[in-house]
Amino acid sequence: MKNYVEFIDVGHEYTLADGQRMRALSPINFNIQRHEFVSVVGPSGCGKSTLLRLLSGLIQPTEGEVRIFDKPVTEPQDEVGIVFQKPTLLPWKNVLDNVLFPLRHKFGRVLPADKQRASQLLEMAGLGSYQQHMPGELSGGMQQRVGIVRALLLSPDILILDEPFSALDALTREEMGFELLRICREQKKTVLFITHSISEAVLLSDRVVVLGGRPGELVDNIEIDLPGQRDNSTLQHPDFAAYTRTIRNYICAPHKTGEQEKTGESAKTDEPRKAVSPHKGAA
Ligand code: ADP
Ligand code: MG
Repeated sequence: MKNYVEFIDVGHEYTLADGQRMRALSPINFNIQRHEFVSVVGPSGCGKSTLLRLLSGLIQPTEGEVRIFDKPVTEPQDEVGIVFQKPTLLPWKNVLDNVLFPLRHKFGRVLPADKQRASQLLEMAGLGSYQQHMPGELSGGMQQRVGIVRALLLSPDILILDEPFSALDALTREEMGFELLRICREQKKTVLFITHSISEAVLLSDRVVVLGGRPGELVDNIEIDLPGQRDNSTLQHPDFAAYTRTIRNYICAPHKTGEQEKTGESAKTDEPRKAVSPHKGAA
């Protein structure tokens, strides 16, 4: 399968107000395939949001190149939609107008067809009967769904979400994760999902990219070979615990896997590999 998104030796240094350079990300390599759901996990400050800004074209890497479908990303891209941690809805506009806002801002007007599509997307996200409600009348989870629909209305091929559910309670969060997965599959999106929740990453993803350290570096890139239909039963799958344990070990004792400790090999890899599950031989 062709790589859709490529991070090629991408590193980043911020320039601080006093002119000093601060390295946020050591050069990393990884790819995302079309319609893949890839999560990035890692401790706070390891460069996850920096990765998002680089892919979205909001900032340019100081080293290497980000490519989308073979083209370098040099500015914000129409094919990339972003969902941030907080949905930042306009409190004085109703749900439908909030969703339509970026289109209105971009083109100066909204066509009846846009309104129809917005309504369909809201319907799909379970918000069909809330279109005329004001944001303040919705729960946190519903507001976040409005934020997701707003990003989807611009029809991006790629959706990047930066810790979108971190303000939600655990149950709503799990529900929202499955909902997001359903929507992204239905809409055939390529997804980069940033989270600090290891279980959320394993539960939802085809692949998990693990970052660690400060500056951040790629620790592992793990294919999650769990049944395609993800739901509450996935949590009971024996491999689920093995995957989360593998990633937790990286994050708690960063940069060396058991295997690598034996061989002295570096933990950095750009090739996805399968995590080892206990009943397949090793932990
Ligand atoms: P994460 O999202 O994993 O918490 P970030 O990508 O936000 O990490 O930040 C990585 C590092 O870069 C941190 O040390 C942070 O302080 C620094 N950083 C992030 N944004 C900026 C910025 N605009 N200017 C300077 N340093 C920044
Ligand atoms: Mg962040």
